[in-house]
Amino acid sequence: MKRIGILTSGGDSPGMNAAIRAAVRCGIEAGMEVYGIYRGYEGLLDGEIRQLNRSSVGDILQRGGTMLKTARSERFRTEEGQEKAMQMLETFGIEGLIIVGGDGSLRGGLDLSNRGIKVMGLPGTIDNDLAYTDYTIGFDTAVTTVLEAISKIRDTSSSHERTTIIEVMGRHCGDIALYAGLTGGAEAVLVPEIEFNLNEVCQRIVIGANRGKQHSLIIKAEGVDISSQDLVEAIERKTGRETKLVVLSYLQRGGSPTLRDRLLATQCASKAVELLHADSESKAIGTVNGQITALPLQEAIEQEREVNREMFNLIRVLSK
Ligand code: ATP
Repeated sequence: MKRIGILTSGGDSPGMNAAIRAAVRCGIEAGMEVYGIYRGYEGLLDGEIRQLNRSSVGDILQRGGTMLKTARSERFRTEEGQEKAMQMLETFGIEGLIIVGGDGSLRGGLDLSNRGIKVMGLPGTIDNDLAYTDYTIGFDTAVTTVLEAISKIRDTSSSHERTTIIEVMGRHCGDIALYAGLTGGAEAVLVPEIEFNLNEVCQRIVIGANRGKQHSLIIKAEGVDISSQDLVEAIERKTGRETKLVVLSYLQRGGSPTLRDRLLATQCASKAVELLHADSESKAIGTVNGQITALPLQEAIEQEREVNREMFNLIRVLSK
């Protein structure tokens, strides 16, 4: 393989830049030309494609976001869109593609792969919602950001002896809430995968307050089946304690990637280049038990995620 392309797609995540840097430099080292495709599948359709050299990716390793920009593309979901994407790849002579993105982006990659181009998928999303990998690129940074916020919110929550609900990202996957709740010492964590009992949550708050707990922090993933404002009102009504809401929103998406995200991104990208250079079939690259893994793309995408119930139960034990 002589010429490969790389694009980032879906929501941005810290570490995408580290992946781009490693893909470009490892690709050049292997004797290939590396092209950057801007604005995800949208840019692919529009031919926003430029060759990158070693210095094009200088000084980005430590930056959040993605220098290639990212987008969501409705046009790409259609038959015509995907045919046009394939034509564009042919026009630029791109023989292999690295796609950094979440579940939807990797599904798009599989569609392209089925049309005949070799695709290496990298798990670039803060959500940690891909079953085939233990961690996704950006998750560690996002949880670290949430943890910092929790520490600050805890000070105020303690001083005012109030309950604070912290809404974090996660429409279908509660991992950000779960990991931040466990390591941040939340009183309760609400995730989309596990039904919650409002009375039990309120009981915990009241029992905790009665035994002298100063603060009460509830971490709620955005995808939980009750609006955060309704939850605030219900908890305030049932516990009689002042309750506030903090929505962390896009704060969780940005920031300099942590060691773990830089490492994961760099090693996944290096593996992707190695596989493209060897003309391998399409794969999804990730990490399992600390090792970098490469599974057939379709098989990886079809794996079903399961929420970590042990972690959920541990939070309940520790926060009593
Ligand atoms: P995040 O987890 O951060 O939201 P994502 O990759 O899951 O990232 P999506 O918006 O689902 O984000 O997908 C990004 C783009 O990938 C979409 O705009 C679309 O162009 C393409 N895509 C998504 N789902 C599919 C699919 N099932 N088949 C083909 N292409 C898809």
